[in-house]
Amino acid sequence: MSAQLLEGKVIAGKIKEGLKAEIQSLKQKTNLSPRLVSIQVGENPASAVYIKSQKKAAENLGIEYMLETLQANITQAGLIELLGGLNQDKGVSGVIVQLPLPKGIDYKTVMSAISPAKDAEGMHPENLGRVLLGNFRMAPCTAQAAMELISSTGVELYGKEAVVVGHSEIVGKPLSMLLLNKFVTTTVCHIATGERGVLPEHVKRAEILVVAVGKAELVKGDWIKEGAIVIDVGINRVGDKLVGDVEFEKAKERASFITPVPGGVGPLTVTMLMRNVVNAFKAQHS
Ligand code: NAP
Repeated sequence: MSAQLLEGKVIAGKIKEGLKAEIQSLKQKTNLSPRLVSIQVGENPASAVYIKSQKKAAENLGIEYMLETLQANITQAGLIELLGGLNQDKGVSGVIVQLPLPKGIDYKTVMSAISPAKDAEGMHPENLGRVLLGNFRMAPCTAQAAMELISSTGVELYGKEAVVVGHSEIVGKPLSMLLLNKFVTTTVCHIATGERGVLPEHVKRAEILVVAVGKAELVKGDWIKEGAIVIDVGINRVGDKLVGDVEFEKAKERASFITPVPGGVGPLTVTMLMRNVVNAFKAQHS
């Protein structure tokens, strides 16, 4: 059996069509445009790529995109003061601070300084709390992207066995809550699972497997349960190629659905960012 590819671009295209129409109608109702302000502190080649795709997606949908580039030597207090101004600015619908931040600036403190009503990345503690409560407006983009890919398979999730590998705040932890909210029996694996040597045994049980670690081909193809849905969030550069956290060629012979890397989760992550901005705008103008 060879798995069906879950192509992020195709699924993102459908969601973007809906968002575009919604933005048009919101503009007519309010005479205003959603606006996303993106803050980059210093220079970073990885965030430069993400910024380019954010700008393109925003402009295609009719969201104004403003990039503010700050010197790498800005203090945490200076950055928080700037965020305070954006929180007050009625013309700003959403704010995203590009990661990573320079040493000396604590990203959790910065995320908490963005108004939860304008938190485009869904990383403010209040928004993370809403994910836990199951009634979120904005949630972490990559976790939502993984969830959209899983839902796109049309497979009934109720009672299924999921394994999430990686417990970061931006992917693994919020995703495990999103799965739990759908009555999926969810196991979260992390570094200690790997160190104890029991990662293969957990992965082998997974009818839904999401891997978000950042280690090339950590999950071997022969660990994949026959017929599993495999979402590979990892992006790793190996030589001149990008590979995921799952051994793709072997895994696709066992899975029923699998995301390619690149082209799986990535295109949907930026779409989820846009959806968060639209949801923020709607809440601010309802
Ligand atoms: P992260 O914050 O570094 O988290 C990695 C997680 O993996 C941690 O929970 C870590 O546990 C765990 N881990 C490390 N080694 C392990 C092992 N041997 N076995 C099991 N778990 C292990 O990374 P992230 O930000 O979540 O990103 C993960 C990957 O996804 C990266 O490759 C990143 O580039 C990619 N990513 C892609 C997108 C996209 O849109 N496609 C978006 C975001 C991230 P400890 O913390 O306990 O060490």
